[in-house]
This record gives sequence, structure tokens and C-alpha cells, in this order.
Amino acid sequence: MIVRKIIKTQEQLFLSLNHLLWPATCMHCHSLIGSGSEILCGDCWQGLFDSTNSDYCPSCGVQVSRYAIIDGKCNRCVASNNNYDGIARVSTYSSTLRSMILSLKLSDKQEYLKILSSMLRSSLDGRAFPQEIDYLIPVPIHWTRQLSRGFNQSLLLAKELGDEYLVIDALARIKMTRMQPGLSPAGRKRNIKGAFALRRGNNIRGKNLCLVDDIKTSGATLNECAKILKDAGAAKVYALVLAVADKVNS
Ligand SMILES: [Zn+2]
Ligand SMILES: [Zn+2]
Repeated sequence: MIVRKIIKTQEQLFLSLNHLLWPATCMHCHSLIGSGSEILCGDCWQGLFDSTNSDYCPSCGVQVSRYAIIDGKCNRCVASNNNYDGIARVSTYSSTLRSMILSLKLSDKQEYLKILSSMLRSSLDGRAFPQEIDYLIPVPIHWTRQLSRGFNQSLLLAKELGDEYLVIDALARIKMTRMQPGLSPAGRKRNIKGAFALRRGNNIRGKNLCLVDDIKTSGATLNECAKILKDAGAAKVYALVLAVADKVNS
């Protein structure tokens, strides 16, 4: 008992000293924060949670007033036919969430996985489709990109949800595509066509699936992945993403 107390006191002393020498700063705005275990300051947390509370189209994820949604679709979804059957998203591509996603992808900040996946889990709450899901399927990246980055962030995010859902890495990215920013919606569609294939040995016939990705922009990637899965016999294909960039929707 006494030994445990001494160890605890030493741990606290070490943490205090550590905090004095390297004071914790908010990963987004870099202001000093009180606790070494926090990653964001109070203002950035607030901004992040505010951005998660906005209404969005349950069909495409674009931010839209709930009064502009008719039969589960915004007017852009009525005009276009998505291959996926619905979406849950955490937020718009807000500056704080954007910082966290970029840090995870480009700086290998895998310590953000827990918080990002818990936000994904919350975004599923209140939606009807999570009860239907048989498998989560991460959107794959090309093997050359995986080699340079060392991981596929969508697979890691899906695995964090793996205590509640079965995860199968069923899709492969067989074509190295150009980075999509700057491309028109039609250009994105052309760019991504033929980029994915179902890996052998995955029987998804009659199953309800949910794609997992970090960001949805035009929806061209989700549409192409959903097409491959439905062509292979999937019943329903939903999508779960951290952020939806609102500007375009194909
Ligand atoms: Zn901050
Ligand atoms: Zn929509």
C-alpha cells in the first residue's frame, strides 16, 4: 500500500516536472492548456462540438437545414442517384477536425484515433442503419501510398469500432489515382473509375455493409466503392465518415 502510494507520488511529480519543462499546447491553435492529457484547448473543443451539431442530409452528408430534407434527401440528392444508401458523419470539414485528420494522416498522430473513433461512434447514434450493418469496410488507399504512409487511416478507424462491428478489409485500390482536390465533380468521377476491386474470398452477397472513410468530398469515391460492392451482390451499402466537405456533391 505504502509502496503503491510512493510510486503514485513519483508519477505525479514526474508529470508535473514534464509539464513544466514541456507545457502542453492545443494541437490546433497552439495555445497553452492546463492538462498534459488534453489535446485541444477549451475553445477548440467547443468549436469542434458545435460543428458536429449541425443538420445534414442523411443521404449525402452535406450540411443542410432539416426543413430542406424531403423523404430523407436534400434537393441535390433528389437530382442525383447515389450508389450508397445513406451516410453518418461527424462534422463538416471544420478547421479543428481538419487539423486532427491531417495530423493523423501526415504526421502519424495515431493517438488521435481513440477520440476520432469515439466521434464516429456518436455520429452513428440515433441513425437507423447501424442495426442493419453486417460488416464495416474501410475505403482502401493504393499500396504505394500505404507503403509511404505506413497505414491506411480508414482501416485503423474501422478497427477502433471493431468491438461493436465486424471489419473486413474487402476492397483493394488497384489504380493509383491523382489527388482529387481541384478536380470538377465529373473529373473526380472519371479519375476514380476502375480504381477499386473486391478482394478474393469475401462473400458479401445479401449483406448490409458500411464503408468507412475519413473525408467525403464529391462522393465519387463512396459511389465507386458502393458500385463495386453492389455489383458483387451487397444488399445495402452505407457510409460512415469523419468529415464532409460541403462544396460539391456528385
Ligand atoms: Zn485550441
Ligand atoms: Zn443530399
